[in-house]
Amino acid sequence: MAKLRSVKGMNDILPADMGRWHRVEAAFRHRAERYGYAEVRTPLLEPTELFVRGIGEVTDIVEKEMYTFEDKGGKTLTLRPEGTASCVRAWLQHSVGGQEPVTKWYYVGPMYRRERPAKGRYRQFHQVGCEIYGDPGPYVDAELIDMVVGFLRELGVLDVEVLVNSLGSGDTRERYREALVAHLEPHRATLSEDSQRRLEANPLRVLDSKAPEDQEAAATAPTLLDFLSDEDRAHFDGVQDTLTALGTPFQVAPRLVRGLDYYTRTLFEVIGRGGDLGAQSTICGGGRYDGMIGDLGGPATPAIGFAMGVERVLLSMPDEAAAAPLDVFVVAEAGVRAPATALARELREAGLRVEADLRGRSLKSQFRRADKSGAPVALVLGEREVDGGGVQLKELGKGTQTSVPRDALVASVREALG
Ligand code: ATP
Ligand code: MG
Repeated sequence: MAKLRSVKGMNDILPADMGRWHRVEAAFRHRAERYGYAEVRTPLLEPTELFVRGIGEVTDIVEKEMYTFEDKGGKTLTLRPEGTASCVRAWLQHSVGGQEPVTKWYYVGPMYRRERPAKGRYRQFHQVGCEIYGDPGPYVDAELIDMVVGFLRELGVLDVEVLVNSLGSGDTRERYREALVAHLEPHRATLSEDSQRRLEANPLRVLDSKAPEDQEAAATAPTLLDFLSDEDRAHFDGVQDTLTALGTPFQVAPRLVRGLDYYTRTLFEVIGRGGDLGAQSTICGGGRYDGMIGDLGGPATPAIGFAMGVERVLLSMPDEAAAAPLDVFVVAEAGVRAPATALARELREAGLRVEADLRGRSLKSQFRRADKSGAPVALVLGEREVDGGGVQLKELGKGTQTSVPRDALVASVREALG
């Protein structure tokens, strides 16, 4: 049989890397909760139609990237490629809008897109994200962006650029669309195949294209900012003024557009300039989607959110010494393995991270494992210690060993750990 391997672009995260993952996830949860967000967990599988309607038919995700299949009952299902559509579905399904004026949710979890794998681009990847329903902004827009920057700063990701734009709303978009098509039409022959096809259906996506042949037409295109209505303009000014008041540096990027069809008004990206990101430098993308909930059959409700790629955050983070995974390694003679188990439990109940080698190997081999484990402290238990009530405490880095009375054990270990 051929060697069994994971699916291309879908990676194992092994225990050696888990410390960094936990650090990112914990920092995100703590920050989101400090800002008043509550966690939501939605299924990994959804009806395909949710994403087709929620993301838009003429998008990279829906056209090319979804893992879609028929289940045994003939239902067409898709592994979620992003979190926003599922959150909106859950919010509508459970009538959350009728229970509270403003909903603030966050999520953490894997997403699936069949793209070409590269550094920072995978077929199973992980996002953390936030969604807010019921607040039209602009203050909350700026607060959301500032929260992302604060989160990255906490993790040592300092070298970032915040790009903001406004896509306007209502007829702004319609008027801009016409001007954009008029600008792109003369370039039609030299545009990429995707862009030629999208020219009528979704001309904004031509600006978001990564194909080199589209760059010139995109760079000279009219910008949305010239088309904003007075209300859109006031909203965008409000976002910028609030960011300035918060002291969050940003740049206006008039040609910034993004994947989803539904974005209105505020749009933003956070680009990483340092670390090990390579070509995949967009760490976070988000925006307002005031039209989506109404279009999916719900009550017209303003909404804004962002999603951040965890793998890209990890690539941007500075290296740090990995924290020791264990506090204590228990080394025991073969005849006292039962009391050694009780001793390990006592320390674990006291909150320490403890490993014991219970296979009955030689003391020498157990000490080798203790040294390799990274635990700063080894506790040595033999017949003599069990009878006499004391335990040998060895500080592995220093090589010092002292005898500690059984009832002072936890305090002595804590002292040795500093
Ligand atoms: P890109 O332009 O890099 O394809 P995108 O616009 O498709 O990104 P979004 O849908 O906005 O990405 O997702 C938000 C974030 O999720 C991205 O900024 C990125 O950090 C992360 N992300 C998206 N796709 C992938 C992927 N295939 N692998 C790893 N991270 C991803
Ligand atoms: Mg993409």
